[in-house]
Amino acid sequence: NAVIVTSAKGKTTNALETLVKAYMSESDEANKILEEIKQDHFQYAQALCGVGHPILNELNDLFVEIEWILEDPVIDPYDYVYDQIVSIGELASTKVVSQYFVDQGIKANWLDIRDVILTDNRHREARVDWEITQKRSNKIKTLLESYDVIVTQGYIASSSENFTTTLGREGSDYTAGIFAYCLNADSVTIWKDVPGVLNADPRVFAETTLLEHISYEEAIEMAFYGASVIHPKTLQPLERKEIK
Ligand code: ASP
Ligand code: MG
Repeated sequence: NAVIVTSAKGKTTNALETLVKAYMSESDEANKILEEIKQDHFQYAQALCGVGHPILNELNDLFVEIEWILEDPVIDPYDYVYDQIVSIGELASTKVVSQYFVDQGIKANWLDIRDVILTDNRHREARVDWEITQKRSNKIKTLLESYDVIVTQGYIASSSENFTTTLGREGSDYTAGIFAYCLNADSVTIWKDVPGVLNADPRVFAETTLLEHISYEEAIEMAFYGASVIHPKTLQPLERKEIK
């Protein structure tokens, strides 16, 4: 059994960030950007699940939440608005991935991570309340008894006021680390566009070597000094419980 943490599709998070900027500066661009993101997701969902699939309505409902925000004048603080809008990328992608699994005959269940990971209300850089998150992750243990895979969002969480928060850009790996810790997972696998941890960034260096083994300390150091393959916060919870 596995918990699958899926991030937003492709460049969606960047596009949503641009949308937030446009809305906050009261530019009409925001609606245009939203339309592009929507169409991109509809195409993707249709390609995976089929034309006219009910998942399209679910996606539409998610994007309506952004439409509602865009209809209102700007009142709330930037970072708060950012989290409410950018989080939709994660919710949308996981909806489609989970549905695809189900359509393929896999016993998958979509989980709203905001019911599990609790943070403070420092929007865009929220800090995890480990005690409550640990307690709430029992919900996942129960779900894993009836499902083969749980598909959920990375990077997003919820504050005690029940508003959506985010854990910092590229935070999906960190979410996987949080769960692995809370659920005493056997291992965490991070899927990226590289075959594994390399000794250098392949976009910069033509010749790179795949590292077959790496200690937690070395990995933390690499992440700290900017190796984008791992989010710096991801490894600490894993190291504490010696999770592979
Ligand atoms: N979608 C978020 C981002 O692009 C989180 C992640 O990818 O880890 O930053
Ligand atoms: Mg992402």
